[in-house]
Amino acid sequence: MYEEFKERLSSIISTGIIENELMNRHTTFKVGGPCSVFISPKIEEIPSVLKLCKEYEMPYLILGRGSNILVADKGYDGLVIEMGEENRQITISGTTITAGAGATLTAVAMAAYESGLAGFEFASGIPGSIGGGLFMNAGAYGGEMKDVVVSAKAIDEEGNFVMINADDMNLSYRHSRFMEDNLIITSVTINLTEGNKDEIKALMDDYNGRRKEKQPLGFPSAGSFFKRPEGNFAGKLIEDAGLKGLRVGGAEVSSKHCGFIINVDNATSDDIIKLMNKVQDEVKAQSGIMLEPEVKFIGEF
Ligand SMILES: Cc1cc2nc3c(=O)[nH]c(=O)nc-3n(C[C@H](O)[C@H](O)[C@H](O)COP(=O)(O)OP(=O)(O)OC[C@H]3O[C@@H](n4cnc5c(N)ncnc54)[C@H](O)[C@@H]3O)c2cc1C
Repeated sequence: MYEEFKERLSSIISTGIIENELMNRHTTFKVGGPCSVFISPKIEEIPSVLKLCKEYEMPYLILGRGSNILVADKGYDGLVIEMGEENRQITISGTTITAGAGATLTAVAMAAYESGLAGFEFASGIPGSIGGGLFMNAGAYGGEMKDVVVSAKAIDEEGNFVMINADDMNLSYRHSRFMEDNLIITSVTINLTEGNKDEIKALMDDYNGRRKEKQPLGFPSAGSFFKRPEGNFAGKLIEDAGLKGLRVGGAEVSSKHCGFIINVDNATSDDIIKLMNKVQDEVKAQSGIMLEPEVKFIGEF
């Protein structure tokens, strides 16, 4: 049955299929075991892939840049569909930018800067794709995807292409309708404002300088591990609980920014989960607040 699935998948995907691809090669945490099959398809191939997955009851994961996921050490028993090379084109018309879901937020921010368009500086240092960014409603320094998005093209679970306007995206803090309805984002259109190139560059440099100064960018991580609890900051709660530098195996609560769990020495997903549990328990015991992970868990833990 699995052999048959692979054979039929191969006949759909022009870019080839990879079996047992290690997910630590595709996540910024640099952890995660193998997935069953890995593909980086053309957009028009995705509906047939979804149909096949349904027929064979094969679970699938949409992968952007892997900067907000934790994949289990045992890997992922399913198909990984990467929004890759085939889907990274960026087009600009007036103040509007449309980008393939796989385009990096940095590339889109650079394209905006080069065209003198302001309003996307906040995203320039977020190491995700624009599809993943919209899915997560990513944000930083007072800006978020919600502020700039106009519409997105997506594929629903039945394999139909749909156009979704910003008003119908249910965007809120690290939440979107794309999560609720299992929609695959294939392209995103944002609207910016005309600005001064020097000022845009200065703002991007300022944000990226602040990131370098405050975040442990030298170590693999998934950024802020926990969501910001209302009226508080996860990093502060963790630091106040005395957990700075707490370590389990190769995973550590960053001393530079306690909201980050970092992979300091060949951490496993298991190390990261155990550390997360300790942090949650201790913060809950000391502050009464249960920290909720922002990171998405993939596979069995
Ligand atoms: C050093 C560092 C700093 C970070 N700073 C920030 C920050 O300032 N602000 C912030 O918000 N985040 C930040 N992040 C987290 C992360 O970069 C963002 O959440 C980003 O938007 C995730 O994009 P991605 O392409 O990597 O998504 P992935 O990690 O690949 O996927 C995340 C989720 O989105 C889904 N997904 C991805 N692409 C699609 C698609 N096309 N269609 C449907 N679903 C999709 C995946 O299935 C998964 O559930 C940081 C991470 C790191 C490592």
